[in-house]
Amino acid sequence: MREAPQLGGVSIPRGDGSRTIRLRRGASISDLADKLETLTNFSVQPGALVTALFHLGEMATATESLDEATFQILGEELGYKIQIVSPEDEDKELLEGFGLDLEQELEDEDDSDLEIRPPVVTVMGHVDHGKTKLLDAIRKANVVAGEAGGITQHIGAYQVWTEHDGIERAITFIDTPGHEAFTAMRARGAQVTDLAILVVAADDGIMPQTVEALNHAQAAGVPIVVAVNKVDKEGANPAKVRQQLTEFGLVAEEYGGDTMFVDVSALNNVGIDELLDAVLLTADAGLDLRANPNKDARGVAIEAKLDKGRGAVATVLIQSGTLRVGDAIVAGTAYGRVRAMHDENGEAVEEAAPSRPVQVQGLSSVPRAGDTFLVTEEDRTARQIAEKREAVERNAQLAKARKRISLEDFTRALEEGKVDSLNLIIKGDVSGAVEALEESLLKIEVDDSVQLRILHRGVGAITESDIDLATIDNAIVIGFNVRPDVKARERAAREGIDVRFYSVIYSALDDIESSLKGMLKPEYEEVQSGVAEIREVFRSSKFGNIAGVIVRSGTITRNAKARVIRDGVVVGDNLAIESLRRFKDDVTEVKTDFEAGIGLGRFNDIQIGDEIETIELVEKPRG
Ligand code: GDP
Repeated sequence: MREAPQLGGVSIPRGDGSRTIRLRRGASISDLADKLETLTNFSVQPGALVTALFHLGEMATATESLDEATFQILGEELGYKIQIVSPEDEDKELLEGFGLDLEQELEDEDDSDLEIRPPVVTVMGHVDHGKTKLLDAIRKANVVAGEAGGITQHIGAYQVWTEHDGIERAITFIDTPGHEAFTAMRARGAQVTDLAILVVAADDGIMPQTVEALNHAQAAGVPIVVAVNKVDKEGANPAKVRQQLTEFGLVAEEYGGDTMFVDVSALNNVGIDELLDAVLLTADAGLDLRANPNKDARGVAIEAKLDKGRGAVATVLIQSGTLRVGDAIVAGTAYGRVRAMHDENGEAVEEAAPSRPVQVQGLSSVPRAGDTFLVTEEDRTARQIAEKREAVERNAQLAKARKRISLEDFTRALEEGKVDSLNLIIKGDVSGAVEALEESLLKIEVDDSVQLRILHRGVGAITESDIDLATIDNAIVIGFNVRPDVKARERAAREGIDVRFYSVIYSALDDIESSLKGMLKPEYEEVQSGVAEIREVFRSSKFGNIAGVIVRSGTITRNAKARVIRDGVVVGDNLAIESLRRFKDDVTEVKTDFEAGIGLGRFNDIQIGDEIETIELVEKPRG
């Protein structure tokens, strides 16, 4: 391999900006060096790239994960476009590594494989316009649930049956109202919604979140049915709602458009059947709602939590295939076997076909809303996929958690050998708390000589694998309302891992903050601890000159650092009180107004009238 040409004193093969280097999210400078070598056939030292980055004002080690922005700065300097592969693409590639190409699978499906599935509907709209109430009203209209006599539970989605053109048909509702859930899932690449019901209160009209919801649905290419709610209210003006919405491209059928508007009162259960009809009509008109039920299930986790008795429970929405009890599944980084399934009425379910939401038990941990799930032939495959994803996530997390330090600070810190980091692993009972804690922790202001790194965070008990990670990277484990399982506890004790439990975010923050401060290398300042005036000089051939002094202030202690001052000028510095005597006795200290004999070792240049000042280094308190 050839030697690379010099670039600012560093050997890096420079590009002309035309070529693109693809890197996985979580990639490091070493990975970039590898790619550059392959691309240019020059040998590229990661160290050279570290230096180049350093000159650009960014500091990183060769193996540390970098974020996209940092890579782009470096790429620009080197003359290459650097592209970070999206998590979705990466996950697709990861699954392909296991022989699972889900897109191909869908393409290969024949018309004859496909069967009609119910539409999946999300209710969106401005706050207080009645989304929750409407979801309740629709659920109550569900005769089947009533007959089953089950207790309706919130699992994140439910199905209702309605008679349409003389046929009983199902509709699936995502019952987390609001477009946050919708956007969050879409941001993660999961499109679960086929159709949106836009709720607009007839007494209030179009409001900011109405427009926002509308935009989200339109951007996702999801057809909209408008529920004009609260028509029972005085001052309700359903016609005005229709008219306002025309400005946003939603023209009511009665005005010659193709959007169905239904007047409803969620409060009085008025118009619910008509709304369900409109949903089915709109779905049938514009959507091809078919899926193959005869294969391993694929879908999306729409809600998940840690249940005290049942462990991780996740509501999954089947998108294709059929999910059965006993199937090996992987959802995000969680894996396991479906131990049991329940529907929204708390009824046990043996199998779930496309568009069916079911609550699944048996996962190793809690997946996130929007995580895709799939069934694998073997348990082992599910576990391996989960583990690979976990590794990818950990890398990405590392890149995110890295706190930057400025170039000047880094130079100084580097010179003084002060770069240090506090590594943390956070586990909690709910993802909201974990995220809040993580965010607050990263906001703690400390000296730049200390980095705070969050290596991993997640929902659920502290596991052996958390402890393993802590062992490797010397991390502290924080359990927020969670405890380690038995194995993890044993492992932590054996490895001497610090595991701390909190139930209040503030106390966790307090502790971390003080340990961060404790880790800061102390800064010292000089404090004068004593001053003695030389009244006599005793010359001794054996001990050198001894100063006969009287202590004027403070205390002179043996071994203290000292300097000699003559007429206000330092004539001897970096000295020490090597011997200290009162009369014939060696003493350790002499206080103000007492006389003493001081020997300054080999320093003999002392005169009557000189002052000996002693200095102590005192640790400066941190603000
Ligand atoms: P969300 O914020 O969109 O979920 O709105 P909610 O479903 O919580 O409803 C907000 C308020 O409007 C509540 O006090 C409901 O009782 C009330 N509400 C909802 N639907 C109707 C309706 O059809 N008529 C009347 N009069 N009030 C309603």
